[in-house]
Amino acid sequence: MADSALTSLNTATVKQQWNLRQCIDGCVRHGIQGIAPWRDILHAMGVDEAARAIKDSGLRVTGLCRGGMFPGATPAQRQANLDDNRKAVDEAVALNAECLVLVVGGLPDGSKDIAAARGQVRDGIAYLLEYARSCNMPLAIEPLHPMYAADRACVNTMAHANDLCDELGPGLGIAVDVYHLWWDPDLEQQIKRAGRERLLAFHVCDWLVPTQDLLLDRGMMGDGIIDIPLIRSWMEKQGYHGLIEVEIFSAGNWWKREADEVLKVMKQRIREAV
Ligand code: ZN
Repeated sequence: MADSALTSLNTATVKQQWNLRQCIDGCVRHGIQGIAPWRDILHAMGVDEAARAIKDSGLRVTGLCRGGMFPGATPAQRQANLDDNRKAVDEAVALNAECLVLVVGGLPDGSKDIAAARGQVRDGIAYLLEYARSCNMPLAIEPLHPMYAADRACVNTMAHANDLCDELGPGLGIAVDVYHLWWDPDLEQQIKRAGRERLLAFHVCDWLVPTQDLLLDRGMMGDGIIDIPLIRSWMEKQGYHGLIEVEIFSAGNWWKREADEVLKVMKQRIREAV
C-alpha cells in the first residue's frame, strides 16, 4: 500500500468547501505534500498571491487543471481557445507546476465529426507545445473515459495519447487517471509504452457501483471496484514515483462533508487502498 506522505490534493475534491487559500492551509495542516489547483479558484485568489502562498507552504504542485478544450466551431473560437491555453501555461509556470493537465475537448457545437475534432485537438496541442517547450512546462494529456467523448475529451485511451506523444515529440506526456482508464484491457501495455518520461501525473479515486451521476459521483479510493494498487504497480514498474493526486467529484457525498474529514480519510485510504 502507498505511503500517505505521497498524497496530493486536487482541489476539486473539496470544491464546495474550500477556496484555494483554505486548500493550501489544509494541506499543510494534514501533512499533505502536494496540491493541484483548478484555474477557477486560482483566478479567484489571484495567480501572484497563490504562487507566493504555495511557495511559502513548501507544497509541490502536481499539476494545474486545466488547459485543453481545443476544438471550436469557427477559426476564431479555436484561436480564442489557444490564447487561453497559452495563459494556462503561463499560470502553470508561475506556480512552478510539474505539468499543465490537458482535458482536450470534445465535439464543437453542432458537429458530428469526431475525426475532425480529434484533428483539431492534435493541431491545438502541436501549437501549444511549441510555446510550452519554450517555457519548460510539460503538457500532460489526460485521456478521459469514452462517456465524455462528446463534451469533454475525444482522447479516450492511453493508446491514443501515446500516439499523440509519438507524433508530437518531447514536452508532451500523459496524466493517468484510474477513473478514466481502469477498464482498458490495454492499460498495462500502454503504461509500459509510455515509460517514465511520459508518465507525468497519477490521479486516483474510485468507480462506484452503481454510479449515480457520470460526472459528480466519483468514489473515495477503496469504496469502488478499481484495483488501484495494481495500476499503481504498473506505474512504479516504469519508474513513476511522483505524488498520488486525489481527485474526487462527489456532489452527493464528499462535497457535503467537513473538508478536514475528507483530507483525513484521503490520507488513510492512500495507505489502505492505493
Ligand atoms: Zn484526473
